[in-house]
This record gives sequence, structure tokens and C-alpha cells, in this order.
Amino acid sequence: MALDPQDLIRPEILALKAYHVADPSGMIKLDAMENPYPLPEDLRKLASGLTHDAALNRYPDPQAEGLRHVIRTRMAVPEGAQILFGNGSDEIIQLIAMAVARPGATILAPEPSFVMYRMIATFCGLHYVGVPLTEDFALDADEMVLRIEQHDPAVVFIAYPNNPTGTLFDAESLARVLHAASGLVVIDEAYHAFAGSSYLGELLRHPNLLVMRTLSKLGLAALRLGFVAGAPKWLEQIDKLRLPYNINSLTQAIAARLVENVDRLNEQADAIVTARGQLFHALADMPEVRAWPSHANFILFRVSDALRTFERIKRHGVLIKNLHGSHPMLDNCLRVTVGTPAENATFLNALRASLA
Ligand SMILES: *Cc1c(COP(=O)(O)O)cnc(C)c1O
Repeated sequence: MALDPQDLIRPEILALKAYHVADPSGMIKLDAMENPYPLPEDLRKLASGLTHDAALNRYPDPQAEGLRHVIRTRMAVPEGAQILFGNGSDEIIQLIAMAVARPGATILAPEPSFVMYRMIATFCGLHYVGVPLTEDFALDADEMVLRIEQHDPAVVFIAYPNNPTGTLFDAESLARVLHAASGLVVIDEAYHAFAGSSYLGELLRHPNLLVMRTLSKLGLAALRLGFVAGAPKWLEQIDKLRLPYNINSLTQAIAARLVENVDRLNEQADAIVTARGQLFHALADMPEVRAWPSHANFILFRVSDALRTFERIKRHGVLIKNLHGSHPMLDNCLRVTVGTPAENATFLNALRASLA
């Protein structure tokens, strides 16, 4: 007799909703924190030459040595810290979770934050503890310390800046978290290019700190490349779980050359930061909108009826993200990715029309 999924699949997996990605065809896409600018023409030529020369019949370099060297020097990874690459930083979150998934182990993160921390904890059979942020989306250091002492988490994940709030948590609160945690603390710097602040330089001062970065939000989301830096004693263990060829040859070759030219990508990030300021002021000027200041390439804002506004903006051909229902603190909240000035203007017009 054939088995039903209920007879075979773990109950916590049966209970999950699949990660929903909206169909963006024909829309101005401001939902996924992508860089709106295409790669400059000379860098595209460079990438196509590398594609031409790639040995597609061969397995990739399992250690990605060429790329490793470039990342280490261009991204200022401290001497003495090791690097581990992931197929996106999502994969790194998964590798870390798998490594610590002893029976009863806990992952802790502030909430609302990046949904993959909770989801991956569930995938790996870990407990998950979400600690609410304060009302203005700051880190609640007292509550974090209390819950860390209570649950002794194997890993604390902190998105810095935080997604979806855009907040850059204050150094004093983070110092208290780092001090209280006896397990790993992973600072996820996916939005580093827009924040101007980093814990990479703190790695050697905190032996249980890992810092994660990705190229996705910097304009290379399609390559799927993230890395984590930290003490060799941790990364050597986590590396055992990595599938041998997780970073394909095209990604290795293209990312290495593009990271050598990271200044060009940072110029685009700077333009996005300028546009973010203009977009924030326009949102803050609307009486029907409450917007939160952001250190990332998106802005969180609240309206009176998020679903209605979201659908109306969509009918104007602009796709943003509706966060209503994803967390109690995000009631009637929407998140817009900062696009080009022209895209932002179209979005603002669509929003104004949708609120009228
Ligand atoms: C987008 C995002 C990631 C995932 O990035 P990939 O490298 O594309 O997997 C990780 N952390 C946070 C906080 C993000 O917002």
C-alpha cells in the first residue's frame, strides 16, 4: 500500500508553508532587495569572457582558492580568521544549524527578523526562540540577555542591519548579547554595502563570533555566493557539512573578478543610499504613512490597510512586499526595496494613488 506524506514526512515539515516568491513578470520589481542597476558593460564583457573560458566538463575547485584569496583581501577579512563559502548565505545558515542540531539545541534571534533563521531551525529539528524587538525596532538588550540565560542557545543570529526593519542595532546592546551568549553569535551583514558599519574587524576579539556576508544585495544575486568568516576551530567543523562542489565554477570565476572590481559595485550601492534618503523623506512626508529610517536598501512602512495598498500598488505595475500577517509587530506593514530614482518615483506615484 502506498504511504501518504503524513505517514512519512516530519510533522513540523508538513506544517510549513513553502517560501512564497511572487511572479514579477512585467512589473517594476521592488520586493526582493535586489540592486536595480545592471552590471556595467565592461564588467559584463569580462564575465562573458570568463564564461567562454570555463572548463564546464570539470568539477569546480572544491576550496574555491582563487575566489578565497580575492575575498580575503578585498573584503578586509582579518588575518587569523577563516572563510567558508555558501551557495548564498542562506546555505551558510543551514550549515551552521545542521552542525549544532543536537537533541534539544536552540537557535535564538530577535523578531521580527530574517524569516530563514526560524525556517532553517525547523528544517534541522532545532528549537527556535524569537525575542521581540522594542516598539521602535531596537534590540531589547535586557530581554535578549534574559532569554539567552534562560535557553542557552547554540546559536544567536543577528541581522545587522536587520531585515525587514532596516535597523542597525546599537553597539552597546550587541556587546551585551556577545557577552551573555556562551554559544555562537552570527552577525549577518547581508546589507553591509548600505550600512557603513561592520563586525568583521571584531572577529579576533570574540572567539565565538561569526560574521556572514553575501554578494546578493550588492548586485550579484544571480551568482548565489555568500561567505562566513570566523575562528578556524568553528569553520573547520561546519565545513564538514558543506557539499564538496557547492560553489559552481562560473560563480567562482566571475565573483573573483567582480570582487576585484568591488569599488564599481560600491558606487552603485552609494547611489542606492542616496536614493534611499530621498525615498524615505517622500514617505515620511505622507500623513497616511509611517516609515522607519533604514540602514539597508529597503524601507519598512505602515499604512492603514496593507493588503489593500499592496494590491493597488501592484495594479499600477509595482511589486513590493506585504508583511502583514508575517509577525504581530508588522501589522499593516509593507517593505519597498530602493530602486533607481525613476522606479522610486513610479512607486511613490502608485502609492499616492493607492492611498487616495
Ligand atoms: C537576503 C538575506 C540573506 C540571504 O542572502 P543570500 O546570500 O542571497 O542567500 C541573508 N540574510 C539576510 C538578513 C537577508 O536579508
